[in-house]
Amino acid sequence: GRCVVAVDGPSGSGKSTVSRRLAVSLGARYLDTGAMYRALTWAVLRSGVELTDAESVAKVAGEADLRLGTDPQGYAVTVDGTDVSTDIRGPEVTGAVSAVAAVGAVRELLVERQRRMIAEAGRIVVEGRDIGSVVAPDADLKVYLTASETARAQRRSAEDAADVAATAADLARRDRLDSTRKVNPLQQAADAVVLDTTELGIDEVVARLRQLLTE
Ligand code: C5P
Repeated sequence: GRCVVAVDGPSGSGKSTVSRRLAVSLGARYLDTGAMYRALTWAVLRSGVELTDAESVAKVAGEADLRLGTDPQGYAVTVDGTDVSTDIRGPEVTGAVSAVAAVGAVRELLVERQRRMIAEAGRIVVEGRDIGSVVAPDADLKVYLTASETARAQRRSAEDAADVAATAADLARRDRLDSTRKVNPLQQAADAVVLDTTELGIDEVVARLRQLLTE
């Protein structure tokens, strides 16, 4: 039957790995909403409009043909037919995404698409910043993952083969922007289960979430 799991939290909290694994183990789809904001950011950067020009940013976002798969074992992201799966993880997109995600019209567009994808999938794990609070407030399980700043920076720099100090600074910058923006800021839903993953392995977190789903 229908099963929607919302996984929110800051970057480096283990959201992506945990969400994908949980989706595989549930035989569910997986929606990476961060990849959607990243793909539109790629389109905005390519267009050359100023990130501070919200109206133009919204226009580019509205015209981009964004497609993204929901297979937890591997999904491509394309914009206007170009595969951007690798580019959207690069420093240019990562540096600009919080600004694009702060534009109200961009969020309206993506939230609406995310809701449609969730309804279509029926069984799905959705990861992001505003899933439990805005996108799917009726989710069957809402999780808010956290981890210490050090753990988050270490995980992220290991993934990106980047310097830990530079990664820590970038995560802090994005968290500040994501938590203080006017539209749908990152925040715990009142009914979310908060899990600190600093001392937990991925398997332990997934097992805990599976247990919560059967309770
Ligand atoms: O999760 P990920 O790091 O890929 O997300 C990239 C950025 O997209 C976040 O820093 C945030 O600015 C934005 N985002 C968002 N709402 C979501 C998912 C991501 O604002 N649901």
